[in-house]
Formats: sequence, C-alpha cells, structure tokens
Amino acid sequence: MADAAKKPLPVVDFLKLPDIGAPYLEGQKCKKCSAVFIGPRAHCSKCGARDSMEATRLSNQGQLYVFSIVHRSFPGVEVPYVSAVVDLEGGGTLKGNLINVEPTPEKIKLGMPVEVVYKDALGRKDREGNSYVSYFFQPAKA
Ligand SMILES: [Zn+2]
Repeated sequence: MADAAKKPLPVVDFLKLPDIGAPYLEGQKCKKCSAVFIGPRAHCSKCGARDSMEATRLSNQGQLYVFSIVHRSFPGVEVPYVSAVVDLEGGGTLKGNLINVEPTPEKIKLGMPVEVVYKDALGRKDREGNSYVSYFFQPAKA
C-alpha cells in the first residue's frame, strides 16, 4: 500500500477515530455511581464497585481546571505552549495542550470554557511513516 493511503493513527488509545463520523474521546463510566475516568480500569475508584465500568463517549466541551505556560522543553518542541488540565462536561478530566490562545496569563482564565479539537499531531511521523491525530483544547467559541 502506498504511504499516502495510510490512515492516521490516534496518539492515545482513548482517542477514537471512527471510519464514519468525527473523532471523539472515550472514557470509562461506572454503572453504579456514574463516575467517569480516562483509560481502562476494572473497578471504580470512587465507589469501589467491581466490573461496573462501561465505555462512554466524552463531551467535547469543558472547563479549564489548571494550566501552565511552558517556556522550556525538549529540542524541537516549539515554546512557549500551554499545558492544561480540563474537566469535561459530564465527567472526565484530562491533560492536553491549550492552543489558539496567546500563551500569557492575561488571556487564560481558570474555569474558562474550552472545547476539544482534533488535528494532526504537529506533522510528526513514526519510523513506518504513520501520521498521528491528537486532541487539543482551545477557547470555546462564544
Ligand atoms: Zn462507581
């Protein structure tokens, strides 16, 4: 198969790229207490229920919980960038980069509404020539 026909891969296994429809993030939701977690787990760490987790599609809307403006990173990583932790609507908390905002404390507010967007992971390819899709946060459109 030609390299150009290769389908991009998700950067993390909780990012789903369906053949039809938009990408989305998948969490694990407890059937007993409705707590939502990222990543596979057999038991609920909120209520302790066993074998009660089921996959759930996470919201693309959330609120900025905390952020850090990163000024130094590995060679080849463009700085400054904004590393953020976001609480998604309906549950799920995850870390990612906040983009499409000026990386200054004056422009970024705790609790500000953000949305999840999906795009190519900075044009990087692995040894086999696979490209990757990642998720990012950006300020929600009013
Ligand atoms: Zn639970």
